[in-house]
Amino acid sequence: MPSLTLPDPGLDPLPSATPRIVSAARVILAAGEPPVADGAVVIDGRHIVWTGPGSQLPHDYADLPRTDHPGATILPGLIETHAHLGSYASRLTPDVPDPSRHRAAWTALSSVATARQLASVGVTTVQSLGSPYFADVALREAIATGLGAGPRIVAAGPQLTTTGGHAWSNGAEVDSVTDIRRAVRRHHKAGTDLIKVMATGGFMTARTDPWKAQFTTEELRVLVEEAHRLGKHTAAHAHGTEGIRRAVDAGVDYIAHASFIGEDGRTDVDLELIDRIAERGIFVDTCSPPTRPPVEGETISPRAAELFQRGVRLVTGHDIGAVLPPSAYTFGLKQLEASGLPRVEVLRAATSTAAAAAGLAGVAGVLAPGYSADLIVAAGDPLADLSALDSLLEIVIAGRTFRPDPVIPYVPGSGRHAVDRTQDLRAARGEALERRRRHPVHPA
Ligand SMILES: [Zn+2]
Repeated sequence: MPSLTLPDPGLDPLPSATPRIVSAARVILAAGEPPVADGAVVIDGRHIVWTGPGSQLPHDYADLPRTDHPGATILPGLIETHAHLGSYASRLTPDVPDPSRHRAAWTALSSVATARQLASVGVTTVQSLGSPYFADVALREAIATGLGAGPRIVAAGPQLTTTGGHAWSNGAEVDSVTDIRRAVRRHHKAGTDLIKVMATGGFMTARTDPWKAQFTTEELRVLVEEAHRLGKHTAAHAHGTEGIRRAVDAGVDYIAHASFIGEDGRTDVDLELIDRIAERGIFVDTCSPPTRPPVEGETISPRAAELFQRGVRLVTGHDIGAVLPPSAYTFGLKQLEASGLPRVEVLRAATSTAAAAAGLAGVAGVLAPGYSADLIVAAGDPLADLSALDSLLEIVIAGRTFRPDPVIPYVPGSGRHAVDRTQDLRAARGEALERRRRHPVHPA
């Protein structure tokens, strides 16, 4: 009987089981540790089996094939902890009489484009925090089974939200604790790795207010309890302070945005709440803004440095998908540094801390024996200048070299999407503030 041989587009034709050595002028084994000069990483199959100075390479490995990158830096593959993989689908549509017939397939294909663009800028793991049709789960499986090449995917499926709440169109509206339990179980059945919930409204869904909480603490607690019972971590989208507080009280593992918007729509940082987030070890992404300096009064401007100084575990979740093209990820790293986060902490947020936030502690984010062989080779030294990440010489995902697609460049502040997004945010907030003025909730 003829055997089926799947094409392996974009994957290195070398059998993945061939052990090999990658070496460079310096190797960052773990962000925050001093780099190893003239270091080497030995890869066997999908895993790392040895790391250290090239001069101390064990005898057994001496004859392995070797790729040397003089002047370059090897570091753990980068991680995006807050992506929306199918979102190109809403920006582009098939040119046919009834595009609605193609929504699911189009979303899946668009997920491939986003994921491959991310991998092409060195993102070897992508945590999807919301994807309609469970396209992220299907993509994870497609990559794992060799249907195509791409980053490791950690998938949330559609975000749980209230009826008519933020991102309701992704298809997971829930309105009671029974609904919530059922939805978490259905997500489990569909194969998600984590559960994402919209704890507040958002800027991108009509008639939802980002400063308003959507769920009660009790509802969120049930969601967390059920997710944890099924071995899944939880992430909450939360702009408003009340929604953040409820998510913290309910025990969520990850907070996206953490904008601390008060009832008046203005940012009002709650230090006591930040300290509780730090104490509980909750991971936080601040979603880097499209421009720097931030627009005055802009609620999505990063409080990254302030959160970091108070001990919050920051991660690099840049909302890629809501922000396009995906090369904005690298720009977001530079934005974090510009906002006051030390460079080495940006790298830590993008690697070891991000891995822990995605449930991959001990698997990714560090170069050490037993870890997945996920690494990138930057042409310069990212510890001296993050721009070194703009020029990658090699991208290795689970032991195999990923052949990057041509990267669509992100143009800060002038890209169509960046401008759209900033304007959308200002318009949405202006409109909402105007509504509040006309219809105060608590008339004076
Ligand atoms: Zn998002």
